[in-house]
Amino acid sequence: MRLSRLLVPTTKETPNDAVLPSHIYLLRGGFIQNAGGSGLYNFLPLGKRVLDRVRKVIKEELDKAGCQEVSLSFVTPAALWQESGRYEKYGKELLRFKDRKENEFVLGPTHEEMMVNLVRQSVKSYKQLPLNLYQINLKFRDEIRPRFGLMRGREFLMKDGYSFHTDEADMKREFALMEETYKKIFTRLGFDFRVVEADSGAIGGTGSKEFMVLAESGEDTLAVCDGCDYGANIEAAVRAPKITDTPVPAYEAAEVETPGVATIEEVASFLKVDPHYVIKTVAMRALYNEGKSEIVLFALRGDDTLQEVKATNAVDANALEELDEETLKAAGLVPGYMSPFQEDKSLRVVWDNALKEAYGMVCGADKEGYHRVGVDLRGMEATFADLIEVQEGDRCARCGGTLHYTKGIEVGHIFQLGTRYSEPLGCNFLDENGKSKPMVMGTYGIGVSRLLAAIIEQHHDDRGCIWTPASAPFDVVVIVSNAKEESQTEAAESLYDALKKKGYDVLLDDRKDRFGSKMKDFELIGIPYAIIVGKKLGEGLVEVVKRDGLERSDVLPEDLIKETERYVCFS
Ligand code: ATP
Ligand code: MG
Repeated sequence: MRLSRLLVPTTKETPNDAVLPSHIYLLRGGFIQNAGGSGLYNFLPLGKRVLDRVRKVIKEELDKAGCQEVSLSFVTPAALWQESGRYEKYGKELLRFKDRKENEFVLGPTHEEMMVNLVRQSVKSYKQLPLNLYQINLKFRDEIRPRFGLMRGREFLMKDGYSFHTDEADMKREFALMEETYKKIFTRLGFDFRVVEADSGAIGGTGSKEFMVLAESGEDTLAVCDGCDYGANIEAAVRAPKITDTPVPAYEAAEVETPGVATIEEVASFLKVDPHYVIKTVAMRALYNEGKSEIVLFALRGDDTLQEVKATNAVDANALEELDEETLKAAGLVPGYMSPFQEDKSLRVVWDNALKEAYGMVCGADKEGYHRVGVDLRGMEATFADLIEVQEGDRCARCGGTLHYTKGIEVGHIFQLGTRYSEPLGCNFLDENGKSKPMVMGTYGIGVSRLLAAIIEQHHDDRGCIWTPASAPFDVVVIVSNAKEESQTEAAESLYDALKKKGYDVLLDDRKDRFGSKMKDFELIGIPYAIIVGKKLGEGLVEVVKRDGLERSDVLPEDLIKETERYVCFS
């Protein structure tokens, strides 16, 4: 391909709303273009080439693992989403619309329902299982905050795969195979990544893992152990029970006056107890389907913090909202002095696991200026759940090591779904005894367009992109230093032909522009190697520049062709 013929509208200006290097360089390098609405992008020729390279790696590894590629309709009948019970639960991210006949549809944000519908129509017997079907296709999520370019778009490209099995054990085998396959994919693409335990969100099911590309700009916080390979999204991270040296307060059960003392720290210091022994009561509004909602109280130890995703899951809500003082008062609650022991028994209370069998505790007395001490929870019948957010310095539940935070970009997510979709949608098979059973499923996603942003977040410098060999739009660019010099053009053309014959994807920068601006484009675009045909041609040499680090070396053109791999380490 000749750069003079290729549409690569590079620019010097940093676009207004772009803050991340990946967003800036993908726009400036002429890879993508905003399509005129937030979170909508067009892929220009270079961007499309990268996408295709990435897609090729994904497809090769999946096909090797026995997965089969299909392509499902992007426009999805809403009826399928009603059947699965997810139509409302998915919330505003789901773009719903009607056709001219008033039939309702959604633009698929993920395709569990569609794939289950495909399989339930075509698979009837255990003999046809297992199956792993995938597609690399568009998704639409009306994200509340589309940002960072391809990182969080509204329309984006996802690889979504779904596996179908006769039993749980076989699904787990496939889940492990997909974990290994994903590791191969992300390794080939050149990522520094980590596999972490994850929350399963709106897709449902249990047992899910995320593939996180480690980058400061990542939107996800991970808790990772310094002693073993435990890592988890903060939404799902667990810790070993906390141990405190401070003794359980020796107060007898009583109500005590605590004037003007409302926060956990104030209470703890006023009553001279460790916040570990103060019960924190957090009131939230839980939102459910059909506009239903209720106030829920979450009780945890004073030195712990509520993890909102865990809390949402604990009450099986779609989301949680904070409540203002007025609403609390109207519900008969006393801000600052609230306890989980409400007279109104219809009020739902969830206790954190760390409060099980606790005693000698302090909590609000549900009246202004008073607290209760000596609260004993031993033997209490109540709903308990894991509600806490792991903090840095907490101990690892696996090895006792120390947990730290790090930031990650979620590029893949694999779930053990079980029968969450096959049951409501009636995706059944006949087993060896002729008995009808729901198929056991797994689901596996990769954010394909997000990968482009993630690659650049990990591989760039202050001049531009540095594509990894497996993702680069071209393997190498041959730059004619001065296109007016016939000898240079000739030598470059013959190098270009020879490298193409060797099977490389070669770009020839044959533009009549200044050498300096061609080099600037090379640095911005980030093709792994440039071969500069310039002044040194007189001495029979060309120059090889490695984009990563910009190291230069002089090489004889013949040697370059003979031993390309020595100078240009292609993947
Ligand atoms: P996130 O937590 O980042 O919103 P998610 O957990 O909702 O993502 P999944 O439902 O697991 O996403 O989708 C599978 C993959 O699709 C994700 O791992 C991610 O890489 C990608 N993805 C999800 N949302 C977007 C988006 N808005 N833009 C680009 N890629 C996305
Ligand atoms: Mg996810």
